[in-house]
Amino acid sequence: MVSRPRHNFSRKPNLADVTAAGHDMLRLVNRRILLSILSDRQPISRAEIAKISGLNKATISTITGELLKDSCIVEEGSGRTTPIGGKPPTPLRLNGKRFGLFGVDIRADETIVALCDFNNRIVARISFETGSDPVVFLSKIGKEIRKLRTKYDSFIEFPGIGVSLPGLVDNHTGKFLLSVVLPWRDVPVVQLLEKATNLPVIIDNSARCSALAEIWHGKAQYAHVRNLLYVSVSTGLACGMVIDGGLYRGGNNTAGQFGHIPIDINGNDCRCGQRGCWDLYASDKATLKRYLELRVTNGRRVTTMRKLVELVEAGDAAATEAVRETARYLGIGITGLINGLDPEVVVIGGEITKLWGLIEPIIVEQTKRNLLAPRSHVIAIRPSAFEVRPSLKGALTLIQNSLLSVPHMG
Ligand SMILES: [Zn+2]
Repeated sequence: MVSRPRHNFSRKPNLADVTAAGHDMLRLVNRRILLSILSDRQPISRAEIAKISGLNKATISTITGELLKDSCIVEEGSGRTTPIGGKPPTPLRLNGKRFGLFGVDIRADETIVALCDFNNRIVARISFETGSDPVVFLSKIGKEIRKLRTKYDSFIEFPGIGVSLPGLVDNHTGKFLLSVVLPWRDVPVVQLLEKATNLPVIIDNSARCSALAEIWHGKAQYAHVRNLLYVSVSTGLACGMVIDGGLYRGGNNTAGQFGHIPIDINGNDCRCGQRGCWDLYASDKATLKRYLELRVTNGRRVTTMRKLVELVEAGDAAATEAVRETARYLGIGITGLINGLDPEVVVIGGEITKLWGLIEPIIVEQTKRNLLAPRSHVIAIRPSAFEVRPSLKGALTLIQNSLLSVPHMG
């Protein structure tokens, strides 16, 4: 029998920016693995952590000792005894008060600022009308965050602010580049917000933030997937890709704009310069336009997806047909993406998912017809199911990810 190594390494080392496996790096990685296990399974004993991580008990004991000392974790109910007199294993938990994480979800109409604890519980949430002048607006957001820091001073540390933005975002330079829904252009969001708050800021595009939130906090049945595609259906269409547990951002940090893959070369002109882009058929804008074309002349004027969803729920035939047609086009685009990317799960987010019972069979039917992979039937297509907006959850997850993620070694 061939003896195979347990690890299946596949990455070429990054020689331009080497991350060598020195002692400090190993310590950091093991700490983060432990914290992630705790975040996922708490309360959990040291013995169970050893079983999951494969680390020996002495190493677990050393690391948990350090984490207790740093107030990152707490022991639960210590001092109890079992009926036969032995000492039961002491379950460990993350200390919610260790970190206060800020998330800012900027949308064209409304911006939400939220503060959550290390256990992902939102402790404060404020909303504002999004301002047209980014410098003035971000200064105001900074002021609100400073106020929240003062009010919630029982947190030991505020490690940073995650910001979700609608449009092209260069996470590397910290700039918001452009968007069709928000009239901001080339805004140095990181620089402005760091100056206003004195806290580290991480920004990303809302579809990518949402994808990140799904792998950290998605439903239990797919919380452990490594490859996930998030399709954000909003005014436009944008996607976020998680590949092998990390966000795929691309060579120029703008990956995910699958909305601009043409699905009809004879279709209408798109703002990107091409014709018949997927965005023109499956976005909320497309659904609203279709409804206007289908509705009877005395129908109600509808300008938001929220209103259109209400009409479908009330049994409006034209609204229902407009949404059904969008579902078909979502299925067409998603089929292509599944064929190309082979994700384990496709998660769809946006107002339209409130009509999941209507759109799911149409999307699934469409994908089943054209998928290449023989195991296609196991690919799950699910609605995002966060109580808070997925992109807000994603903004908060940007900071959590920065505290718990592990590096690509080499
Ligand atoms: Zn286009």
